[in-house]
Amino acid sequence: MHSAYNAYPEFLCMDATYKLLEIRLPVYILLCEDGAGESEIAAVGLLTHEDAASLSWFVERFKSFNIAWPKTNVFMTDKDLTEREILRSAFPGVSLLLCLFHTMRTFNREITTSKLGITSGERTSSLELIQKLAYATSEEVYDELYRLFISSSPTTVVDYFNKNWHNIRVDWVFGLNFASGNFMNSTNNRLENFNGKLKEVIDCNSSLENFLDKFYVVLASMRNERDHKTIFQMQKVLVDMFDPNSAEAAYKKVLTLYAAQHVLKQMSLRGDINLLQRENEYFMVNTTEGLHTVTWNFCSCMFRKSMHLPCRHIFAARQFLRINLFDIDLCAERWTLKYYRQHQRAFNSPIMADELRSVEFHVAPKKKLLSQHEKFKVALQETSFLATLVSESTGQTFEQRLSLLQALKRLD
Ligand SMILES: [Zn+2]
Repeated sequence: MHSAYNAYPEFLCMDATYKLLEIRLPVYILLCEDGAGESEIAAVGLLTHEDAASLSWFVERFKSFNIAWPKTNVFMTDKDLTEREILRSAFPGVSLLLCLFHTMRTFNREITTSKLGITSGERTSSLELIQKLAYATSEEVYDELYRLFISSSPTTVVDYFNKNWHNIRVDWVFGLNFASGNFMNSTNNRLENFNGKLKEVIDCNSSLENFLDKFYVVLASMRNERDHKTIFQMQKVLVDMFDPNSAEAAYKKVLTLYAAQHVLKQMSLRGDINLLQRENEYFMVNTTEGLHTVTWNFCSCMFRKSMHLPCRHIFAARQFLRINLFDIDLCAERWTLKYYRQHQRAFNSPIMADELRSVEFHVAPKKKLLSQHEKFKVALQETSFLATLVSESTGQTFEQRLSLLQALKRLD
């Protein structure tokens, strides 16, 4: 978990799963994405309480064991306010994205005929508009849809939306901040998949011992499968349809298969781009996301911001300027094969468990010793409560309660 996260720390999903343990502890999982686009578990926490202090303890522990934490730019969570506040202060400057799936589910649950006093027709049309808002590709598109939404939706829906969602739109609207560095993850689906696997193998309400045994079974089988895939990918000599001197072949040679597939797709789409040259090497391009600025190594489109890989617009600009389409500097290091080889478990000898093993005990503060007088006061509080209970009863109950008290006295 250490090596997976410290090699690929930029994006993390966090979520809790319930009902796996008989002692009712939620299982918190942090998950990251490696250079092959695969999910890796970065940390697991079993918390006895989900209050701010416990969550904050978990997050701070995670940080103290992982030096790469300042490189985490994006966190995807659901809309739990305590959790989000803690992450915001523990990871300064991080983008806290809301899982789009959970966001849409919350809208479905909260915008109902009974909760907001609307008709089912109004509900349907409000939800449709909100869905469009969620997928707005730019601030302008959002503003336009938002104006339509407030003028055509019932006041209760608009109030609910303004109070809970409008001001945090950069956290959940697709085309705003959302796409920056999220590697095209718009939901916590990666984590949901892992949780699904856990639930397939681990019975509901397992004992802690059983849970731990099976948890490591799931983890080991997931990693085996992954390592097998990695080695297979590295050994396979791909039949190449590209000229060995082409930019396509060059990207395939230096990027992981996953990243190369994205880049080649973008490259193949460069012919459809209509560049409007502004001056020298600056271009504008009109896309479904709105107007973007493009140069030979910069583009403001979602793909570029999200993946840190060259997009179709950059390729079009380079082609226009007659610059080589291949440029490794356009690709984040995390997507290169060299980096992948250095950090992939399948190629590394495992770290000896002893080097990492450390158990810390958090000891609750000691209770203050009480003086005799203080003890008397505490005892008096209890006994006067008992006296009240006895005095308030009548008949047989009174007799029974009094004799209980007398029995207590005899025990001295
Ligand atoms: Zn672009």
